[in-house]
Amino acid sequence: MSVADIVSRCEQMYEDLDFSYARKWKAAQAGRKVVGFLPVYVPLEMIHAAGCLPLGIFGGGDSMEVIHGDAYYQSYICRIPRSTIELGVTKRLDFVDGMLFPFVCDVIRNLSGMWKIMFPNVWTKFFDTPQNFDPAIGGTYYVQELQELREGLEHLTGRKISDDDIRRSTRLYNENRNLVRQVYALRAKEPWKCPTSEVYVLMRAGLMMDVEEHNQMLKDYMAAASAEDRPKRDNVRIAIFGSFCEQPPLNLIKSIEMAGCYVVDDDYAVVNRFLTVDVPTDGNPLEALALTYCTHSVETSCKYVPVEEDKGKFHIAAVKASGAEGVIYATPSFCDPALLDRPMVCHRLSDAGIPYIAFKYAENSGQMQPIREQAGTFADSIKLWS
Ligand code: SF4
Repeated sequence: MSVADIVSRCEQMYEDLDFSYARKWKAAQAGRKVVGFLPVYVPLEMIHAAGCLPLGIFGGGDSMEVIHGDAYYQSYICRIPRSTIELGVTKRLDFVDGMLFPFVCDVIRNLSGMWKIMFPNVWTKFFDTPQNFDPAIGGTYYVQELQELREGLEHLTGRKISDDDIRRSTRLYNENRNLVRQVYALRAKEPWKCPTSEVYVLMRAGLMMDVEEHNQMLKDYMAAASAEDRPKRDNVRIAIFGSFCEQPPLNLIKSIEMAGCYVVDDDYAVVNRFLTVDVPTDGNPLEALALTYCTHSVETSCKYVPVEEDKGKFHIAAVKASGAEGVIYATPSFCDPALLDRPMVCHRLSDAGIPYIAFKYAENSGQMQPIREQAGTFADSIKLWS
């Protein structure tokens, strides 16, 4: 399969706000259930172990007009909750049986309450991940939260989820995370072969499809991209941070590349990279998930960093590991967690001698020229003075 074929399929899934893949998956077998999830992280293996399809809901992007959604919110919050409401009230999610709202911020937490009231027939769970990362405290709490999730899914599907079911699913998602890391490593090594506009839709498609199918797709993409002869440009290598929840439009991602930047690391739709190592598949599977979450997960603005001096260390290490020459800190407008984090992280980048720029976007941002000019000037300044 060629790169163009794979990317074209992923783009179709990315643009499809009727979620045809998930609808077809559900219709293919009686009794199948689809469980949607909001950013930033939920344990997909738990949904899979229940026999359900995890479906990433990342708002409405830039192609959907939000009419009803705006009526539910004040003007000064981000766009993803409005467009998610719009997806719901326009019946685009009418086939979804359950919804998980992870603890990202107050906006998503409140959206879970609204969903319960607006869609009473949908099993809706606020998935409360811990902010204490001591395995004995936050880990113990998280095992209980995972057990509650397990019982909720069992209630939804009418069948028990055994420890072996979870272990089997964890193995598949370990493979997925491994392959995702390989794609990221390939892009960091030869970014001209794996443009981020392609890698991004490849990852987004994976959050909407069967994991085994996505594992094969990742292998096919790496084989095809490695074999393609693409010109190497005189671009600078940059890392993107701050884009973990509401997603920028694809045109914005393309604009950054067209401005002369190779994106060699990012936190776009970070759910499939949230855990950075394999989850053990022996022992208690819930304890394994909880321990991995507490000890080996990425740092985003939704996670509390208890020691102030540690703030930004994760970002600096990621810059060094990927060989990035600078950082673009790109966050959704009105995103409280990211905008609170931004000055602290950028301050640390500055102290470490890493150049950065910062800007805000919305999922429906339309004016790319200012972004292109800003990113282009940043790239030139790195080339000239770094
Ligand atoms: S974009 Fe930011 S403020 Fe909005 S829901 Fe996501 S984390 Fe919360």
